Amino acid sequence: MTHTVSPAGGPDAAHLDGLPHVDLFDLRSRLDAAERTRLETIETHLEEHVRRQTIEPWNREEFAPELLPGLGALGLGEVFTDGSSLLFQGLAHAALARCDLSISALIGIHNELNVGTIEHLGSEAQRERWLPRMKRLESLGAFCLTEPEHGSDIAGGLETSATLEDDGWVIRGTKRWIGAGTLADVALVWARDTADDEIRCFLVPTDTPGYRATKIGNKIGLRIMQNADIVFDDVRVPQDALLPGAQSFGAANDLLRASRAWVGWQAVGAQQGLLEILRRYTLSRHQFGRPLAKLQLIQQALSHIAGNLAASIGMMSEVTRLQEEGRLEMMHAAMAKATTTRLGRESAAMGRDAMGGNGIVSDFEMAKMMNDLEAIYTYEGTYGINSLIVGRGLTGLSAFV
Ligand SMILES: Cc1cc2nc3c(=O)[nH]c(=O)nc-3n(C[C@H](O)[C@H](O)[C@H](O)COP(=O)(O)OP(=O)(O)OC[C@H]3O[C@@H](n4cnc5c(N)ncnc54)[C@H](O)[C@@H]3O)c2cc1C
Repeated sequence: MTHTVSPAGGPDAAHLDGLPHVDLFDLRSRLDAAERTRLETIETHLEEHVRRQTIEPWNREEFAPELLPGLGALGLGEVFTDGSSLLFQGLAHAALARCDLSISALIGIHNELNVGTIEHLGSEAQRERWLPRMKRLESLGAFCLTEPEHGSDIAGGLETSATLEDDGWVIRGTKRWIGAGTLADVALVWARDTADDEIRCFLVPTDTPGYRATKIGNKIGLRIMQNADIVFDDVRVPQDALLPGAQSFGAANDLLRASRAWVGWQAVGAQQGLLEILRRYTLSRHQFGRPLAKLQLIQQALSHIAGNLAASIGMMSEVTRLQEEGRLEMMHAAMAKATTTRLGRESAAMGRDAMGGNGIVSDFEMAKMMNDLEAIYTYEGTYGINSLIVGRGLTGLSAFV
């Protein structure tokens, strides 16, 4: 008898019956019934209408706008601000990452940094103008902080300037790596006020003259998520483009702490996804007359990945508890982001090896997940920078300067 595996996962439904869910500690049992049902609805939609549909856009390095209305209808454009429990938000982000990390990045940055910034730091008029469409995912924002010459040292080094003139602000400078920069309707631009050197945030409609975004191509990961280099060439916006709550860089801190925790949930979801991919594959693929999943070394790989996943879930569960109690510090968020993405990277490398040659073909999804993990290891603070934040917390000494 010959056994074949298909990229879609192989003839494995029967094999998977009765096997444990990748929510290894059953965190969802802590949600109330309504949120549990909502999470299952989201997971079903992602599995049936999104997961396999992300492979071609990923290969072509193209955005997949056709996926947005379905995600918007599930309320995923406003999950950070709609009163959902923090655990539900984390599990919803994990569900997205389990399916595809680019879509997860887009939705996560949209919620945590774009909608979140306008909701918490914006004026009533700014919220009314931008948020209704953004919350339905009919409109996207772009969070513009990083610059070509300043990544890790952006807080001290930010060069983009904002000058208040008689008829409003003039913004000059360049930004790099900006998610959805070529797709967004509004850019949230962090710039240094030339009057007092403070870093402030401005809402800039992307059709304003002088705004020019160029897609960054040839990325090895998050290939569906479009990142851009952006030039602000004497961009003029009215005085009320300034977010009233964003009068210094410190204003971004609460949001950046929450968004680091979000990346921890991404790493949980990615490891859930790659455990599923590997389990399906190794149950279907036969060598030496038996399923790979029956081989001891393959079971060791599955066990190692499950252990990394369980450690990540446990960490994020505790991070969520601290968030609920209002006690999450930057050190906790940085530790969680650094550790879960490190484990995710290790899990992906192991999973890729356990799939042999098919492990390097994006159709089988493991290679796609592995490359995407490289990007999340670096954004929201590199592994190194988050380690230094933890080191500073543990010793009271800053190694940054
Ligand atoms: C896919 C992707 C999406 C992104 N999306 C956005 C976005 O939407 N908006 C946005 O504003 N930014 C975004 N970023 C930018 C991201 O936050 C930066 O890439 C990140 O902060 C690192 O900056 P850098 O790339 O300039 O690396 P660098 O700062 O040049 O770092 C290079 C290396 O040096 C190390 N290093 C730097 N300083 C130190 C130090 N003091 N001690 C020890 N090691 C050090 C780093 O850890 C790293 O290993 C995105 C990045 C990526 C890759």
